[in-house]
Amino acid sequence: MRENDFSEMRRNMVASQLSGRDIRDKTVLDAFEKVPRHEFIDAKFYKDAYSDFPLPIENEQTVSQPYIVALMVQLLDIKKSDKALEIGTGSGYETAILAELAGEVFSVERLKDLTEKAKLALKKTGYKNITLKTGDGMLGWEEFAPFDKIIVSAGAETMPGPLTRQLKSPGKLVLPVGPRIRQKILLVEKTGKGEILEKEICDCMFVPLIGRYGWKDSNARKDI
Ligand code: SAH
Repeated sequence: MRENDFSEMRRNMVASQLSGRDIRDKTVLDAFEKVPRHEFIDAKFYKDAYSDFPLPIENEQTVSQPYIVALMVQLLDIKKSDKALEIGTGSGYETAILAELAGEVFSVERLKDLTEKAKLALKKTGYKNITLKTGDGMLGWEEFAPFDKIIVSAGAETMPGPLTRQLKSPGKLVLPVGPRIRQKILLVEKTGKGEILEKEICDCMFVPLIGRYGWKDSNARKDI
């Protein structure tokens, strides 16, 4: 497959899966038209690189469905002046989308192999406004807090306290919360006065957020 084929697949993805649904924010649509999702997955999945579903990456994790990423970043209303935090770097695809929209992006992944792979893919695709680390993202990233926008790309059982504390006022946080196999996307807004407002957006299915404040997974690798 050639670069032209991928560009055409991306245009079709934006038209049918994003603007064809309820993604209206032009800067979000432009970011999805630009970021090469195929660079973040294994070559054996290239024909589905821009399809309407999540794809497997290593360590039984997934790169999220483009529409869900678009929906979440649209809710965050990210500006070039924003400092954003992502929990669950995974492949690095969503990190690249955030890097197109925000000024600075910080991303935490619990599995070292994935952080290393994402780092390579983000270097290859030329993103420079990104800082990655391996660790428990439920704790946020105190050193660089507070953040204007926070996105969590794995399902939490309950709202992680450190993340709301590391949110600026005003600021926005979007995350999946709920039982292990089915969650709801929540938009959490911290107002200028520091009040917390929560809004349920829709049902979703994410891989579990694992760690001290997350799901206890007996099979989880002890990378951190
Ligand atoms: N945004 C990613 C989605 C990856 S799936 C992408 O576009 O590819 C969710 C990721 O969250 C997985 O890589 C998983 O290892 C990671 N994760 C799970 N619990 C975590 C935690 N407590 N801290 C940081 N990352 C976590």
